[in-house]
Amino acid sequence: MVWVESAPRAWREGTRRYRLIGGKCPSCGGLVYPHRQVCPYCGREGLEAVALPRRGRVVTYAVVRNPPRGFEGREPYVIAVVELEGGARVLAQLTDVRPEDVRVGMEVEAVFRRYREQSPSGVIEYGVKFRPAI
Ligand SMILES: [Zn+2]
Repeated sequence: MVWVESAPRAWREGTRRYRLIGGKCPSCGGLVYPHRQVCPYCGREGLEAVALPRRGRVVTYAVVRNPPRGFEGREPYVIAVVELEGGARVLAQLTDVRPEDVRVGMEVEAVFRRYREQSPSGVIEYGVKFRPAI
């Protein structure tokens, strides 16, 4: 899954505290996550890396009851599209909330959490999840 990245990489890039790094288009101002080369809104290349806001709202979500290989044993869990302040949309897992308590429009904030203890490559994988905002 594309949004999963290893903790060593996040820290090697100089983030004592993990931040959401996305891309900002110099042409139309569009914000994207994760960072990519081409703007999905206007097609311009050369997006600059920016730290995105940690807070947003749930736009839509799905409860996963038949997880893909490597994620067994955690079902049911919730995958949501979160719209961050500023407009970037992030597909990520929700945490610290029961599936039946999730609502469209609920405020959430990004946290850095373990995804898998043992990936096929043998490393612990970390990534961004969202929890209800306090
Ligand atoms: Zn653009």
